[in-house]
Amino acid sequence: MPVGIIYDKRYLDHQMGFEHPESPARLVTTMEMIESEKLLDDPKFKLIVPRPATIDELKLVHTADHIESVRRKDLMAKDGHLEYLDAGDTAVCGQSFDVAVLAAGGGITAVDAVLKGDVSSAFALVRPPGHHAFPDHSSGFCIFNNAAIMAEYLIKKKGFKRVAIFDIDLHFGNGTSDIFYRRNDVLYFSSHQDPRTQYPGTGYVHDIGEGEGKGYNICAPLAPGASDDVVQMIFEDVIKPVFEQFKPDFMLGSVGCDAHYSDPLSGLSFTTQGYGRYVDGFKKIAEKCCNGKMVLILEGGYRVKILGQSVINILKVLAGEKMPFVEKEIDSGESLLEYHQDLVKKMKEYLKPYWKF
Ligand SMILES: [Zn+2]
Repeated sequence: MPVGIIYDKRYLDHQMGFEHPESPARLVTTMEMIESEKLLDDPKFKLIVPRPATIDELKLVHTADHIESVRRKDLMAKDGHLEYLDAGDTAVCGQSFDVAVLAAGGGITAVDAVLKGDVSSAFALVRPPGHHAFPDHSSGFCIFNNAAIMAEYLIKKKGFKRVAIFDIDLHFGNGTSDIFYRRNDVLYFSSHQDPRTQYPGTGYVHDIGEGEGKGYNICAPLAPGASDDVVQMIFEDVIKPVFEQFKPDFMLGSVGCDAHYSDPLSGLSFTTQGYGRYVDGFKKIAEKCCNGKMVLILEGGYRVKILGQSVINILKVLAGEKMPFVEKEIDSGESLLEYHQDLVKKMKEYLKPYWKF
């Protein structure tokens, strides 16, 4: 079965202003690179056109007021004039409402393609991103929470019992975490740059969930400079055992490629092949727990060429092929490794009432 690539040119119609890092160029370049690597001529990949989400599907996560306020702001934004949502860091341009609805629909389209057996797994290349969006407000360039909508769609509309979301963007997915913080049917794991040094300033190791959700929210705040070796250690020692005990019946990935060492927003030091290996680890869990049922959705990634290379490496990994873009490996160094060995200890300490290590 091929790997699905969900994309639509309409994703370019959402604009947040001149030189904004969350630009249409991110997807223009990524798709040009996918074409020049001939992925679309390869029967191992299948391009799928997304449908928009319905208002009822948006309401699986969002309040009617939030949806209406985005629509209203969007109507006010015309002729190149931008309007700003909520905290003021997310703009809409006149097409943004429709594009955001199509981004949420891109995730649902990907899920449906996997459920129908058209594709083995899929990567939805959408914008705007979603993981900083809350039920009642936008933030951090995110309008609707695409990953959370997919998880709720699987649970409420398709009868799934346990959905795991991994979030490997540079930033903590505070919106997604908040939405499922008190629930044990959605396991949320995020690795991100330490909140004391990076937006959104939350996502500490002690934030493990509340009530029934205790133990089902897992944060790995990484110190600036941390590279793929640190990620691999946390994955093997904490994440793999927890995910395998949770036994998800579907896996979702919020994939942002802004933790790359050259990304303008990044203090971390991931490589393009590091992204491929990271996703490969989750793919193996999905194969073990849920017949490989996994959908990835794009979050950040602001150095466009690197975003394209990372996305292609990830797509190749999903198809079981060799990664074409391999950079020089980065060694985090002894002191950072020690710091993160200590972080692993703390994570296990907080999580051991709920999981076996
Ligand atoms: Zn990000």
